[in-house]
Amino acid sequence: MARRSRRRSTELEASSATHVGHLRDVNQDDLAVTDHLFVVADGMGGHRGGEVASTLATSVVVEDFDGTDRAALVHAVRQANRAVLERAAADTDLSGMGTTLCALAVVDGPGGQGGPEALAVVNIGDSRVYRLDAGGLIQVSDDHSLVADLVRAGELSAEEAAVHPQRNILTRALGIEVDPTIDSWEVSPARGDRFLLCSDGLFNELGDMRIAELLGDGSVHEAASRLVAEALDEGGHDNVSVLVVEVVNGPELPSGGRPPISVVRSERATGPVRSQAVDLDERTTLRTSVGVVSAIVLAAVLVFSLYARQGLFIGHDQGDVAVFRGRPSGILWFDPVFVEGGDLRVALLDDSTRAAVLETIPVGTLDEARRLIEGFRAHLRDR
Ligand code: MN
Repeated sequence: MARRSRRRSTELEASSATHVGHLRDVNQDDLAVTDHLFVVADGMGGHRGGEVASTLATSVVVEDFDGTDRAALVHAVRQANRAVLERAAADTDLSGMGTTLCALAVVDGPGGQGGPEALAVVNIGDSRVYRLDAGGLIQVSDDHSLVADLVRAGELSAEEAAVHPQRNILTRALGIEVDPTIDSWEVSPARGDRFLLCSDGLFNELGDMRIAELLGDGSVHEAASRLVAEALDEGGHDNVSVLVVEVVNGPELPSGGRPPISVVRSERATGPVRSQAVDLDERTTLRTSVGVVSAIVLAAVLVFSLYARQGLFIGHDQGDVAVFRGRPSGILWFDPVFVEGGDLRVALLDDSTRAAVLETIPVGTLDEARRLIEGFRAHLRDR
C-alpha cells in the first residue's frame, strides 16, 4: 500500500467527466482522482482488452505512487506497464491490449521535502495534459503518435495532423514493450492555474481555442461537464474523458510571464533509474536518429495507406510481421486471412514501426506491403 505521509500546502480542486460517446459500445477510458494525484488512461485492443488495460493501469498508478516526487510517479507508471503486460500474457483474450496514460501529481519540488512544491506531469501515448493560465492554453505533454512524429519531423502541419485519418496510430503506449520511455515534466504551481487531462475523444472534436474557453469558464465542475457535452455535440466519435484540476491554494503567479514548459525540467526516462548525464546524452542522440528514420519510413506508410483500401493490411502473426486480407472497419479488421509473412520478428522493429504494425497498416496492394516490409527490415533497431 502506498504511503502518503507528506503534508502538502498546494491545494487542488478537481472534477472529472467521461462519456462513451455516440459511436462506441464500451467506454475504454478510465480516470482516477485522489487528493494529490489525477490520472487519465485511454485503453485499446480486443473486445474487453482496452477497458481492462486502462482500468488496471490507473489503479496500479494510484496504488504504487507514494506521493513523494516525480521519480516515484514515473516508477508507478512503469509498474502499471508491467501489470498490463503480465495480465495480457496470462489471458489470451487480452493479448495485444494497451493503454495511454497521463497523470498529474503534487510532489516535492527541486529542493526536496520541505521546499516549494511542484506539479509532476507524466505521459505515454496521446492523451494530453494542458495548462491554462493568464498567458493562455499550452499543451504540457507531447503526443506519442505517428502524426505527432511527422509534425516534429516537419512532414505534416499541426492542422493536417489534427484531421489526419491515421492520427489514432500510437508510437508509444503501456502494454507494448517491457521498457517504455515515459516523458515527465515538473512545473511550478500558481494559484488560479487550471490543468486539463483528457483523452483524444476531446481534442479530436474541439480545437485548442474552444478548449481554452470552456476550460476557463465557471467552476471546475462546470468546465468538465461542458467540455464533454460539447465534444458529444461535435460528434462524439470516441470515448471522451476530461479531468479539470485547479490550483486553489499555492503561490501567486509571478509577474513577467513564466518559462516555456519545454524548459521546465522535462525528462525522458527508460528502464531502471540512471541519472548520469552521459546516459542521457547517449539516449537523446540514439532517439533522435531512430526518430528520423522512423519518420521517413512512416511517411511512406501514410502515403501508401491513403490509396484506396483494398482489404490488405500489414499486421502481426505469432510475433512475426505478416500480410493479411480482411475487412477494415476503423482501426479494426474483421475475418483477416493470412496472406504471407513469418520471417521478420515484430520485436526487432523500432518503436514507431512496431506500434504501427501492432495497430495494423492498411495497404493498397501486395507489392506495396512487400516494399514497406523491406523498408522495415532495412531499419531494424540497433541491437
Ligand atoms: Mn480515444
